[in-house]
Amino acid sequence: MSCYRGKFTDELIKNAAYIGTPGKGILAADESTGTIGKRFESIKVENTEDNRRALRELLFTAPGVLPFLSGVILFEETLYQKTAAGKPFVDVMKEGGVLPGIKVDKGTVELAGTDGETTTQGLDDLAKRCQQYYTAGARFAKWRAVLKIGANLPSQLAINENANGLARYAIICQENGLVPIVEPEILVDGAHSIEKCADVTERVLAACYKALNDHHVLLEGTLLKPNMVTPGSDSKKAAPEVIAEYTVRALQRTMPPAVPAVVFLSGGQSEEEATVNLNAMNAMKTKKPWSLTFSYGRALQQSTLKAWGGKVENVKKAQENFHGRCKANSEATLGTYKGGAAGSEGASESLHVKDYKY
Ligand code: 13P
Repeated sequence: MSCYRGKFTDELIKNAAYIGTPGKGILAADESTGTIGKRFESIKVENTEDNRRALRELLFTAPGVLPFLSGVILFEETLYQKTAAGKPFVDVMKEGGVLPGIKVDKGTVELAGTDGETTTQGLDDLAKRCQQYYTAGARFAKWRAVLKIGANLPSQLAINENANGLARYAIICQENGLVPIVEPEILVDGAHSIEKCADVTERVLAACYKALNDHHVLLEGTLLKPNMVTPGSDSKKAAPEVIAEYTVRALQRTMPPAVPAVVFLSGGQSEEEATVNLNAMNAMKTKKPWSLTFSYGRALQQSTLKAWGGKVENVKKAQENFHGRCKANSEATLGTYKGGAAGSEGASESLHVKDYKY
């Protein structure tokens, strides 16, 4: 068998292509309970199940937002939650033409013998969990592998180990009907140059596509979620056109045209930076055989979270803010964003957190 061919083939291809529909992208709302707790701390909201549910309801039911989205990534708890009126979130999404997705990794642990590099856990019972999530309505999945840039990092061991883990995860998802998002995130932490980031991104992506092929993954039924190619967080920033050029070139050199879409992570960029960088890539005239869209967590939620502050009376204002960011990113997927959508305090604020855990 050269690649997966089974009962889910057509569905995987159809769903992956749908997620990459120009004008639409993914909301990553899959913060683990610990991570959402840190966000809540910043707005002084208690980390209770109902507050987590209330934030997700605010996002998923914001008027006019779902047409800008093709998918939402959920944490397991949220997959089974409902609106205050009792409607399952999964139904809200389905009615709005949005595919529910699910975070299936179980976080990272240190890779023994390396200089603080990591590997991602969660393969053991993955097939069983995928079946349960599919039954609950999920149609795609996310698994985050993390790599670091340093004088001698990433090591070849970390690159191989993480590429192999992503490929094992991807084929298990496909066998159980979920489109795997392959996410090898290279952290922005450090003082490296954009050239160094490009170099590492190309090495990592090349290793991932070799592993996906070795593991018989059906590329047409996958999505790639990479970092953009940027200078390190302790270096001088680069212009959007420069980031666009380096990022698209790294993809051209490593990413097969069989993959329908790239869904970028925001990785600590400010809301506005993440939008203008995506816009610059889509405005570029060059070879791009895949659609380039967003799968943002922090860069879609930060100013909305602040506007909400955990108060019912702020929900409307927060939803309007969220609508503004989703519309701006939808335009960025078409290369037509003209700026000015910030419309909210904090849209240019850096969201970088060192050694970020999701
Ligand atoms: P950020 O956009 O906040 O980087 O997160 C996206 C994501 O899903 C990381 O795994």
